[in-house]
Amino acid sequence: MNDLENNLRKLEGYLTNLKCDGVLNHIDGEAVHGSGGEFFATESPVDLSEICQVAKGGSEDIDRAAAAAKAAFPAWRDMDPAKRKAILHKIADAIVARAEEIALLESWDTGQAIRFMSKAAIRGAENFRFFADRAPEACDGRSMPSANHVNISGRRPIGPVGVITPWNTPFMLSTWKIAPALAAGCTVVHKPAEWSPVTARLLVEIAEEAGLPKGVWNVVNGFGEDAGKALTEHPDIKAIAFVGESSTGSAIMRQGAETLKRVHFELGGKNPVVVFEDADLDRALDAAVFMIYSLNGERCTSSSRLLVQQGLYDDFTTRLAERVSRIKVGHPLDPATEVGPLIHARHFGKVVSYFDVARAEGAKVAQGGEPFEGPGGGHYVAPTLFTAANNGMRIAQEEIFGPVLTAIPFADETEALALANATRYGLAGYVWTNDLSRAMRFSDSLDAGMVWVNSENVRHLPTPFGGVKDSGIGRDGGDYSFDFYMETKNIAFARGDHKIPKLGV
Ligand code: NAD
Repeated sequence: MNDLENNLRKLEGYLTNLKCDGVLNHIDGEAVHGSGGEFFATESPVDLSEICQVAKGGSEDIDRAAAAAKAAFPAWRDMDPAKRKAILHKIADAIVARAEEIALLESWDTGQAIRFMSKAAIRGAENFRFFADRAPEACDGRSMPSANHVNISGRRPIGPVGVITPWNTPFMLSTWKIAPALAAGCTVVHKPAEWSPVTARLLVEIAEEAGLPKGVWNVVNGFGEDAGKALTEHPDIKAIAFVGESSTGSAIMRQGAETLKRVHFELGGKNPVVVFEDADLDRALDAAVFMIYSLNGERCTSSSRLLVQQGLYDDFTTRLAERVSRIKVGHPLDPATEVGPLIHARHFGKVVSYFDVARAEGAKVAQGGEPFEGPGGGHYVAPTLFTAANNGMRIAQEEIFGPVLTAIPFADETEALALANATRYGLAGYVWTNDLSRAMRFSDSLDAGMVWVNSENVRHLPTPFGGVKDSGIGRDGGDYSFDFYMETKNIAFARGDHKIPKLGV
């Protein structure tokens, strides 16, 4: 039996458990149907077969979940943080113990290649461990004495929060948002993406089996316009942590306005990778290829715009096209696969539509530019490279969110910076140069929340993660996450009998 057959056999076992009752909502420690009794199907992008039925939640379900999160909040907030830390570590242990199941189901539900998804489960566990270790210090503040007062600040968990996640790497992203919320002492209502709901159910069950009290973490499945909207409008939900499209972020801001919702947005990107003539070109090539063609290009920090200095543009893009032509598209459960099928017919349609856009705009399709006949007949596209492009084209400005790269030449540093910044987005940027002064100057002026110099995206959990412009509001990571999930409070103690202004004497 080869590796793919072996993975498929194991998957069958895990799917059997799921298919018994589908993906239900999870409220106050119980797996429950939607209040309207409705379901929707989630299907695999590999062969479009139905994976299982998913409970369809709406505003009534959100009401119940928010009530459970509100009721569970005081005890969770007041729990000794050392105990919270221990529970979160147990969740991490349990994720590791079920990493294979999580990875196989995630691959099957999303189309993401198993070579990346097996690491995603482990990264999810690391997220829990990282924030678990910081739980005991999350409330810490500062002492700021003044002439007449001792001021002591501290942080308190904000209350029940809503977490809304997208479909691209749902397991990892859910842990990334939920682990710090729990470590901070908040309770959670999670609304997973409707196209990839399978691992969210596993995750909450794992957490409760590991000792998380009932009601601390609730999951309501459903669509953005009903369950998602209701969550963002709910008066008992104090903040919304959202990862998804920029336009959805705007909608959530409008929806949350009435209840003055605190929001944290991780949104879209059209991230430049800028390659100067003096760079280590072999490494730059490896990184550029990795950052757009890994995770099916369905990655917010993907390097989807390649800016190459004029003198090496032809050589570099020729080498690039050759590498792209050799990328292995295939069954996501095959460990050899580098690019799997795209998540959904609608997303496939969007990505494919850009092939026509590129041709109409006059760019050259140097590689790919068409659907790919993959195993199972699912939503595969050929890894694609557009050359002879300019920064004004739609393929250079719009987030395609697939394995599609647009390569644009530039003359010098000034033009490179102008092109890199000429987009509505500002999530990440990648700079390749061996000139130290230029690296510092350029990365400083790049409109991006995160810049990697001579590197691909390597995540270090204490560092701030987030974007500027239309790519987001707020930062995740380390203490930044706690700042979002907590309120900072100051208490001033008078040192003695300072003069109090007297009125009406
Ligand atoms: P999306 O915005 O369509 O959906 C994300 C989530 O929002 C889903 O759960 C959806 O049901 C929900 N939603 C939709 N409309 C809503 C509404 N009106 N109110 C409340 N919730 C609503 O995004 P997607 O297509 O699932 O994901 C792809 C996008 O996510 C891309 O733009 C990508 O760049 C972005 N993303 C960003 C990051 C980051 O860290 N910046 C990470 C991953 C993905």
